[in-house]
Amino acid sequence: MPLQFPQLHDEDESKLIHNLTQYGLSKGLIMYPISYQEYQVNLAPLTLFPTPFPRSQFEKAKSLATAYSELYANVVSQHDWLINVIEALAPVDSSFTGMLYQSYLKAQKKGIVQPISLGIARSDYMYDTTTQQIKQVEFNTVSVSFAGLSRCVGQLHKFCNDNGLYTSNGDAYYDDSDLPVSDSSLGLARGLRDGVSCYEAHHTDGYTKTIVLFVIQPNERNAFDQRAIEYTLFDDFGIVSKRIDLARVTSEVVVDEISHRLYYEGREVSVVYYRSGYSPHDFEVKEAWDCRVLLETTLAIKCPSLLAQLSGAKKIQQLLTDESILAKFYDKQDKSELHSTFCKIYPLDDSARAAAAKKLAFECPENFVLKPQREGGGNNIYKEDIPGFLRSIPEEEWSGYILMELIHPPVQKNILLRDGQLAKDGIVSELGIYSSFLFNEYSGEMINAAYQGYLLRSKISSSNEGGVAAGYGCVDSIYLY
Ligand code: ADP
Ligand code: MG
Ligand code: MG
Repeated sequence: MPLQFPQLHDEDESKLIHNLTQYGLSKGLIMYPISYQEYQVNLAPLTLFPTPFPRSQFEKAKSLATAYSELYANVVSQHDWLINVIEALAPVDSSFTGMLYQSYLKAQKKGIVQPISLGIARSDYMYDTTTQQIKQVEFNTVSVSFAGLSRCVGQLHKFCNDNGLYTSNGDAYYDDSDLPVSDSSLGLARGLRDGVSCYEAHHTDGYTKTIVLFVIQPNERNAFDQRAIEYTLFDDFGIVSKRIDLARVTSEVVVDEISHRLYYEGREVSVVYYRSGYSPHDFEVKEAWDCRVLLETTLAIKCPSLLAQLSGAKKIQQLLTDESILAKFYDKQDKSELHSTFCKIYPLDDSARAAAAKKLAFECPENFVLKPQREGGGNNIYKEDIPGFLRSIPEEEWSGYILMELIHPPVQKNILLRDGQLAKDGIVSELGIYSSFLFNEYSGEMINAAYQGYLLRSKISSSNEGGVAAGYGCVDSIYLY
């Protein structure tokens, strides 16, 4: 059995919070508040203690990082299948998936000149108490966040433990070796570095110093999580990054018409790294779509390319749960391990499988979550809300959604600290596994793929969603048992 978190007297708890807060504010475990002010930050929502996670399941999730990377790289590079699926999805989600697809077609018509694609993904899991295994919530292929804050909160929990802040007598409470610190900010920087090195080896004289272009949202609340990657890229690899709002790209970059090289502030860009462009809000300014197409047609390596972004659609995740489809894209020995992390996910189109799923959605909605093709949190429909929601939209549109069985994570104890307030209710946690993969989108050749750190997010068990930036969850770290 795992240790429960330490019970502290009020005085020791206050001392812990004082230390956590000053450590977090000093080390960049911070976010902008909802009322964005350039010069004012808040401590990011976090847990006071690391949360127990079974060691064998953590190891399993890590060991699948490269398998998942290869699976999605194969989905992207064997793109006829992907394009067929997306083509069918486009009309039922015309405002977003449809627009991404249209942008891909436009880019293709103009000419896509860079076959190398960089994936920086995060596979999210919950430990399921029913099957006693990790089950995948989703696979994110665009703008995965919290790699920076995750490393920071792990270091913070270790600091508190080793400095005796978790006990009244100043001893350590946890065994240090049970507290893995995620090296995800370095991990993501390594992924971007691989993209830069690959570009420079193929497209420069070997002396030109190229840069990474972070394509961001205006007034990003989670800017410091991104800055952690930027600063690590600079400190550890000497690589400079610049930041640009998606909608300003066409007016602020220069693209050489012959070579298709991309320049920003006079410097050649080797990697375009999206921390924007994953939600319809990012495209409220219409020029943003032109910007996405323009970048897609440059020589810079995109992280991710439009096809790689589209491969992260929840519809693709649903289709891959079919063993015969999975086998088309991944056939290595650990295929069954990969498959064991899938939950049941049903289509709601006009297939035979969907007919049964449509019944389930109305007869026992309490077992399901209904998901549209969206990212960034706050878009799903849960349990009893599913039947009413489905009735409220035309049945032709149901095929734009997937119906997923709910995972049952254990309700555990921890204390959450958000905006200076403590919450002591039960929590549930979601494990994210970062990976980076550099591959040829046309030949399918994998240049490299690697595990790049982890994220643990925890939320009050009564809340359906777990997004930290969306205001539901807290950053956490793992205590292995
Ligand atoms: P998004 O791409 O918007 O992050 P997710 O698929 O991750 O969408 O769903 C958002 C949140 O909903 C997850 O972080 C998790 O808390 C909850 N959730 C999603 N799918 C499931 C599931 N099958 N079982 C339990 N909770 C889920
Ligand atoms: Mg997502
Ligand atoms: Mg998610």
